[in-house]
Amino acid sequence: MCGIFWYKWKTHNIKDVLLTWLKRLEYRGYDSAGMAFLKKWEVKVVKALGKVANLEEKLRNITIDNSFEAGMAHTRWATHGGVTLENTHPHWDSGQSIFLVHNWIIENFKELKQELTKKGYSFYSQTDTEVIAKLLEDNKKDTLLKTVESVLPLLEGAYALLIFSKDFPDEMVAVRFGSPLVIGFNDQKEIFFSSDTQALAGFADKVIFLDDGDVVGVKGNDFVIKSNGKLISKAIEKIDVESLKAEKWDFPHYMLKEIFEQPEVLKNVFRGRVDFKSKTLHADAFRELDKLDIQRIVFIASWTSYHAWIVAARWFEDLVGLDTGVEIGSEFVYKNFKVKPTDLYVFISQSGETADSIEALKLVQAKGGKTFGIVNVVWSTIARVTDMGMFTRAGTEVGVASTKAFVAQLGTLLLVALYLAYKNGIAKPEFDKIIEDLAAIPTKIEEILYRENANIKDIAYQLVDYYNFFFLGRHYQLPIAMEGSLKFKEITYLHSEAYPAWELKHGPLALIDEKNPSILIAPNDLMLEHNISTLEEVRARKGKVVVITDSQAIKGDWNIKIPSTNRFLYPFLTVVVSQLLAYHAAQKLWREIDKPRNLAKSVTVK
Ligand code: GLU
Repeated sequence: MCGIFWYKWKTHNIKDVLLTWLKRLEYRGYDSAGMAFLKKWEVKVVKALGKVANLEEKLRNITIDNSFEAGMAHTRWATHGGVTLENTHPHWDSGQSIFLVHNWIIENFKELKQELTKKGYSFYSQTDTEVIAKLLEDNKKDTLLKTVESVLPLLEGAYALLIFSKDFPDEMVAVRFGSPLVIGFNDQKEIFFSSDTQALAGFADKVIFLDDGDVVGVKGNDFVIKSNGKLISKAIEKIDVESLKAEKWDFPHYMLKEIFEQPEVLKNVFRGRVDFKSKTLHADAFRELDKLDIQRIVFIASWTSYHAWIVAARWFEDLVGLDTGVEIGSEFVYKNFKVKPTDLYVFISQSGETADSIEALKLVQAKGGKTFGIVNVVWSTIARVTDMGMFTRAGTEVGVASTKAFVAQLGTLLLVALYLAYKNGIAKPEFDKIIEDLAAIPTKIEEILYRENANIKDIAYQLVDYYNFFFLGRHYQLPIAMEGSLKFKEITYLHSEAYPAWELKHGPLALIDEKNPSILIAPNDLMLEHNISTLEEVRARKGKVVVITDSQAIKGDWNIKIPSTNRFLYPFLTVVVSQLLAYHAAQKLWREIDKPRNLAKSVTVK
């Protein structure tokens, strides 16, 4: 996946820093990479297609001494124009004075390019990025910051930019608008910009998390941040050095690595399927769905996927207005069921080889039922046998306790629900708002990973003094409570149970006391008031509570903060918290996190 980086030299060798960063982003996938080394009157650009190793090879013949004051680097995931050296970043203006790297897309680039062509500009690449360079050239002001600020209103899309100009060698400008970017700092007063916080490991231990619309002007050793044309100040936050230590770049466990990959995984799920600008959805599978008259959706899955199903069922009920049924594959196979022509049977499986789901699939097909697969592994049985389907694009998941595959399932399911909702005539403003809020979800997950991880770890370390846990939630958060509880017991080997919060009164309340803590998932949604009552109920019995929320109105013995979002989208955030909670507790207990005892990744036997 694409990434951008900037380093202003003081102590490290620029070439080494840039290469280290590029290698760290390698696992995400990209199609070309480039760098620019910058000093007052000279810029050296190196680009290569394919692997970073190809770029490294080219760099061997190039000397970058300490007279180069800064460097920028980019991994490109081509969106505009093929994978060619011309299209590889950095890009520049006609006079080779302005150099920039860019992530994501400028959606109105065609119109802008036409206007610039009329003015006499010519283009060496097919990228949308080169258009920005030429626009900057066309709107030159007396500082780089002013130049950039004058061009930003012309750009539509989602982007992060890092810009340098030989005409203003003392300056550098960074922009974040819908694509992640942080500023990193260290005690040597060095400045870094990175689209990936984790990749700053060993270089920076403090960051400023930029928000959409922030423009940063660096001048000499100082910088300013502007938003809506006004100067703003932002807190420098100490980041969890422990999880960012250079030697821990290769995460201690696959599970943690996979948790941290989730923002990228979701972007992959959306790529090419959601057009965030026109607010439209596209997938071959949708054309297949168009041919059907669906009145009821039946979801069949096994445990973790089953939790994704329950969330999805709520989406199909609330957004599409369909009847739903959620079945556990291993139980469904024993059932006497009827198939109607207006039913759609949806099978979800990470591996696509889950024995119970495959058996259920055969039974449904034998009765003539229409089947849809949501699967991660491309050539798997479920993917091949179902009538239609979508891949979850989560990449290989190694940890037995599923994390990123679950989030990818949620993302894929939501797209199907939204597509059908659109067809069924959901109010357009509501639809647009969900799509808009969905675009921000990967960044909000990052906020949890980088801002809240240390707090979650701290709480998890205290929880391992207890032996029994209740995970409580309502409506959209019940399946997340179930998933959180499953994850927790799978890898900590501590006993936990999930309950619908209201159900406490029907039995489990008898077990609540100071020895059995609860984890209450209570985002600021329609259930908040009820969850406040649950909290009171538990505390009245001296029960200790961890509250996961974005609301100020509810306070537990321990509190985990999540960013606010659309009420339909909270599961994407709360599930990440529950994964981290389980992970840290298991790590404190020295469990074999990636291969918990008695469990296998893919359950292919009865
Ligand atoms: N749209 C730009 C291109 O195609 C940037 C893509 C990226 O984010 O890597 O070059």
